[in-house]
Amino acid sequence: MNEQDKFQLQNQDSNWRDCQAGDIGKVSAQLKRRRRVRTIQQRGAVLGLILIAVVGLGWFTMHLQNQDKPGGHLVAGLYCSEVADMAEKLFAGELENKQVAQITGHLDGCPDCVEHLEKARQEYEERTGEKAKFQYPPEPKVVLAPLMPRGLSVARVW
Ligand SMILES: [Zn+2]
Repeated sequence: MNEQDKFQLQNQDSNWRDCQAGDIGKVSAQLKRRRRVRTIQQRGAVLGLILIAVVGLGWFTMHLQNQDKPGGHLVAGLYCSEVADMAEKLFAGELENKQVAQITGHLDGCPDCVEHLEKARQEYEERTGEKAKFQYPPEPKVVLAPLMPRGLSVARVW
């Protein structure tokens, strides 16, 4: 060990000193402060996430409301996307009368779906080679009402 090493060792030794009164207090205060900063940061992060969630949800809701294509609005208790989802069963005649009535109700108030469903119906008939069991607007049926009130016999267009 040369002189320089000895000197360094001594020097290091001299850096070691006993904790002075107040040092521990200072250290723990520093730690507490750091912990408080971290808590604030965590709270900030949580608040940020909540904000993002709220803004995101707002945007999503607005997006849904503004959407006019299937997937979009609620008419007669059905969303356009639900009408689209049921189209296949509708054409196959697999839906209950109640559901068919609901879909008709939706179509009465939703020109978008009428258009969409008409395309889907043509596609269905081409694909299956069968006539769809649902059409909107219904094919006009001329029905002779034999005995109408006031004795009038009229051709009634459904
Ligand atoms: Zn619709």
